[in-house]
Amino acid sequence: MELKVGDIYKCPEGHSAKIVWISEDKKVVAVKCPQEHLSKVVKVVSHSEFALTYRNHPREERKIYAKNMVFLTEI
Ligand SMILES: [Zn+2]
Repeated sequence: MELKVGDIYKCPEGHSAKIVWISEDKKVVAVKCPQEHLSKVVKVVSHSEFALTYRNHPREERKIYAKNMVFLTEI
């Protein structure tokens, strides 16, 4: 069965995602997943006075989750 744009395909984490693009050789598809994914982890340094009392922990990690991310997947 041939895939086409608009079909449901699995995102890398196994959610049901929608195909938004298919390469000409039909070997790669782009799927857009409505579920939340961990987009990136950023280190943030707080410059607030409050943070000065926590010198041992000047950095905190903040996880960024994004919805509707698009993944390229080989099929
Ligand atoms: Zn997903």
